[in-house]
Amino acid sequence: MSLNIKPMNEWGLNIQGTRLLISGPCSAESAEQVEQTLDGLADSPVDVYRAGIWKPRTRPNSFEGVGSEGLKWLKDAAKKQNKPVTVEVANVKHVYEALKAGIDMLWIGARTTTNPFAVQEIADALKGVDIPVLVKNPINPDLSLWIGALERINQAGISKIGAIHRGFSSYTPTKYRNHPRWEIPIELRRLYPQLPIICDPSHICGVRDLIPAVSQKALDLGFDGLMIESHINPDVALSDAKQQLTPFNFREMTSQLIKRKPLGDNPQFIDILENLRHSIDDLDHELVNILGKRMGLVRAIGEYKKQNNVAILQAARWNEIVLERLEQAAPMGMSEDFMLTVLQAIHKESIRNQAVVMNSPSQEVPK
Ligand code: PEP
Ligand code: MN
Repeated sequence: MSLNIKPMNEWGLNIQGTRLLISGPCSAESAEQVEQTLDGLADSPVDVYRAGIWKPRTRPNSFEGVGSEGLKWLKDAAKKQNKPVTVEVANVKHVYEALKAGIDMLWIGARTTTNPFAVQEIADALKGVDIPVLVKNPINPDLSLWIGALERINQAGISKIGAIHRGFSSYTPTKYRNHPRWEIPIELRRLYPQLPIICDPSHICGVRDLIPAVSQKALDLGFDGLMIESHINPDVALSDAKQQLTPFNFREMTSQLIKRKPLGDNPQFIDILENLRHSIDDLDHELVNILGKRMGLVRAIGEYKKQNNVAILQAARWNEIVLERLEQAAPMGMSEDFMLTVLQAIHKESIRNQAVVMNSPSQEVPK
């Protein structure tokens, strides 16, 4: 299904550059904390201020947000700078309260995106409302669920729509709080090239030291903006203390980010790029041909194993292939991780092919 998407510069947010920069506290905690944080951000290039009002917490008895009264704190503090604001909505009540308070943009949180009933109820409540809505990825790495939520909101008539990439949770600890799995937003971009994608490095990283590198990576990949949490005094924040930046650090960090340009139309640049891309195309075609030939051999071996009633998987041979190819790849700058993933994909397809051969009538083994 296609999405009806309005470009970000038509969202009425008065975006300063080509990217949307959102910042503000994880949670609104008091009128003073919101005001001081936003005042501190006043000379940074923030387009929209955020604050969590209703906080979806994993465990009960932790700070669950200040509720509706925080909407006014956020609105008032942003009004001093004439800037729009955004909050997370997780149910119909939140939508009504946020709209009543004049909130300019909404986002749907990662936990809500996982629940199609909740997303549909929010979508129904938004019918006839012309406001930008951003949809965070679900906490689990399920692209369809993410797309489904975007479709529900879009079908309610919201065309000012975008996605927020905030990483994916995993049971085993990694250096990230939520693993970025960049291939997932990249696939979303491939499927919906017009859909703005905003990266949320704060919830990917979980700790402030990692935020600059993840922010830069998002810009390197051509993402359309960043949402970064900031707090006037992060160490005493009531939620996400470790990942919030002071307004000063936010300004320092964003000023150091290198903003990558879109392709543009410089003919000389395009010319050289096209040539390099042709060489890539040639190599890719060769790669596919070689893989095809390899599969032909794999099927012949499958036939031979079948005639001799030998099992498909021969662990010693597989191990020998892996070790030898990893050694070959290392000096060419290819990581072990990458090469192993490629080999495993080839091996999986080889096993699938041999299983087909084993379970179909015998052919003659080609010489
Ligand atoms: C947030 O932005 O504060 C938040 C709760 O994020 P997420 O839904 O990504 O966990
Ligand atoms: Mn947060």
